[in-house]
Amino acid sequence: MSAHEAEQGTRMSDLRKRFEAALMPNYGVPPLALARGEGCRVWDTDGNAYLDLIGGIAVSALGHGHPALVQAVSAQVATLAHTSNLFLHEPEVLLAERLLELLGGDGRVFFANSGTEANEAAYKLIRRHAGRGAAGRSHGGEARRTYVVAADSSFHGRTMGALALTGKASIREPFGPFAADVRFVTYGSVDELRAAVTGDCAAIFLEPTQGEAGVIPAPEGYLAAARAICDETGAALVLDEIQSGIGRTGTWFQHQHEGVRPDVITLAKGLGGGLPIGACVGFGPYATAFGKGDHGSTFGGNPVACAAALAVLDTIEREGLLEHVTKVGDQLAAGIEAIDHPLLAGVRGRGLWRAIVLTEPKSAAVEAAARDAGFLVNAVAPQAVRLAPPLIITPDEAASFVTALPGILVATS
Ligand code: PLP
Repeated sequence: MSAHEAEQGTRMSDLRKRFEAALMPNYGVPPLALARGEGCRVWDTDGNAYLDLIGGIAVSALGHGHPALVQAVSAQVATLAHTSNLFLHEPEVLLAERLLELLGGDGRVFFANSGTEANEAAYKLIRRHAGRGAAGRSHGGEARRTYVVAADSSFHGRTMGALALTGKASIREPFGPFAADVRFVTYGSVDELRAAVTGDCAAIFLEPTQGEAGVIPAPEGYLAAARAICDETGAALVLDEIQSGIGRTGTWFQHQHEGVRPDVITLAKGLGGGLPIGACVGFGPYATAFGKGDHGSTFGGNPVACAAALAVLDTIEREGLLEHVTKVGDQLAAGIEAIDHPLLAGVRGRGLWRAIVLTEPKSAAVEAAARDAGFLVNAVAPQAVRLAPPLIITPDEAASFVTALPGILVATS
């Protein structure tokens, strides 16, 4: 190790020590301090390069330092960085119009700063709608639509409303009890959903694929059944596409694979390509369920974040990234499936959102071995390693991981 490298090495261990001393222990101490990125590569503060196959948890849709994102954000921050919601600005109008165009239908958009906030907005929206119904003629003034249904093992965020909807017990339980009446059903069971949703149910909250549970896609027909149950009972279908949306599975939104339309959809992550933004889009009566003063955010729909999101959407379209995601995602999955190793059980997921499924709970060791080999992946569940690379990953970059994976698995076992 050169004197220069020794000094760099000190920088990373020093940063990790200082992180531990200065930041709350909720994340533990991450294994790497990242210094910069370019395309699908990132470098740590010791100068080591990695192929980024997790993209900031399905966020860095255009990779790192994409010229379109850099240009849009730089120009906007130099022009007007912030207005608050006291004034409107063109980027938020353009972005809302663009999202509605991609989603189709008679919708309206609320902008937030994150996924959890998008879900808070959705939850307030359906309560507001249900509240109007409760007081209205159709329900004779009776309190109705008092509860919502969500799925076991789901993840909708960490703030108290989104957390109440989150089925992952380890995340939810330390913070109960919750003010919300949320009833949980087994993800994928149409029978349980049908039994749980009555005329008193305000909404079903579902992820089209459960991301944090380990990239677990809904069984074929499940979303369509949820749609039918909502149509029969009058409950709203809220789809959380915070992780699955914005091209991740090869369509703009995952529900488009099944031709199912939500009443409310939430977005975040890939939308801003690394800039913080969330969106809650309501359709039909949910488009206008919020009255003036019902909800708000100082930073939500910030001009810089909106400019970033517009650049992401334009680039996905201009560079044909939806087809690219399908092609490279299928190549990646086929390559992994062809590997014969006792630790490898298979691959789940769609597009550039996959889980390498293991036969034993060794995902943390696989993540560490991959890191040592120069690849960033994520041990999302004990037996699942998540891949959610930038949508711009090249076939050669994907192939380099497939080539390295047998060695990574050997190093793990
Ligand atoms: N919903 C889903 C499906 C998610 O995957 C996440 C984050 O992983 C969230 C909500 C919360 O998003 P955020 O971390 O931006 O609050």
